[in-house]
Amino acid sequence: MRRIYRRRMGKLLDLMEGMELDAIVGVRPPTVQYFTGCRTVGCPPRTLYFTAFNNGELEILAPRLEVNQAREEAALGVIVEVPRGVSWLKALAERLEKRGVSRVGIELSGIPHNAYKHLSAGNEIAVEDVSEALASLRAVKSPEEIRIIRRAVRIAEEGLEAARRNVRPGSRERLVARRAIYRMMARGAEWVSFEILVASGPRAAYSHGAATNRKIGEGEPVIVDLGARVEGYHSDLTRTFIAGSNEKFREILGILDEAIEAALRMVRPGVPASEVDKAARDVIREYGCGDYFTHGLGHGIGLEIHEKPLLRPGSKEELKEGNVFTIEPGIYIPGLGGARIEEDVAVTGTGHLKLSEYPRIP
Ligand code: ZN
Ligand code: ZN
Repeated sequence: MRRIYRRRMGKLLDLMEGMELDAIVGVRPPTVQYFTGCRTVGCPPRTLYFTAFNNGELEILAPRLEVNQAREEAALGVIVEVPRGVSWLKALAERLEKRGVSRVGIELSGIPHNAYKHLSAGNEIAVEDVSEALASLRAVKSPEEIRIIRRAVRIAEEGLEAARRNVRPGSRERLVARRAIYRMMARGAEWVSFEILVASGPRAAYSHGAATNRKIGEGEPVIVDLGARVEGYHSDLTRTFIAGSNEKFREILGILDEAIEAALRMVRPGVPASEVDKAARDVIREYGCGDYFTHGLGHGIGLEIHEKPLLRPGSKEELKEGNVFTIEPGIYIPGLGGARIEEDVAVTGTGHLKLSEYPRIP
């Protein structure tokens, strides 16, 4: 177990060397969990921060109420208690000065701008933003991480199956959501990854329709988007069920299926993320539905439900072996309804590994 974290520490040391930094400070909960092993991902997130030094030492800053738990969970490093009444940023600045740090990389995306100003005022430490660099390290998953995400995907598929069984004319969106949650928890989810979306009938035209008390009508499309969390890692799957039959929406599902196939054919290391988006978007456009596909094709999943890489037009990212992300084309027709299919895939050395197996058109 410690080996994983030592390897990750090695990545931080490489980053420090490349950027000529004396230390790196991790702030955001998924970053802290990834590099220390402390379980910070969840709700509410825990307030822990770490500093990795270029001699290989690691300090975890914890408020008094977190100290014991952090000591138990930390895979490496020493716990430094932040005294009561002292802000962690002030404590951090003091530690950095004490250790003689002159150039530090901080994950600034996790710090309110004003708070950061306090840190930088009145001391001589040069600060670099390492938010992007840290997010890029986490975006490349090890085989072990991919196995964990695959377990989370299996559980989400159980959730979809429970949803499918409850989609019928007359049942309510919230019942569908509840049954899916029960099933995922019963099958070993730590928790759901996000509020389950169940959007039926005209509401299916909303790309993010949380479940309401609405009754599902005959022949309506029902978008179900859900995920399960396992060891802090997320899955994220969507299927569109039809309550009865509806030829028009069956055809739309066929278009989405084709778009996913076109996208999958593009997935391999070195391909621009925007090209994968384009492959799917072109298919939808050919069917005259381009204006109804109103969001990016996909996003990375891991300790966060939305992380790198982002697959969308204009994305500057390139796919790397070990990336894990969603492919989720949708077609939303205002007033009429909509459909989305979402798969989870990993980039391998030569192509892709599809993590989800649930039928795309159930
Ligand atoms: Zn989703
Ligand atoms: Zn998604």
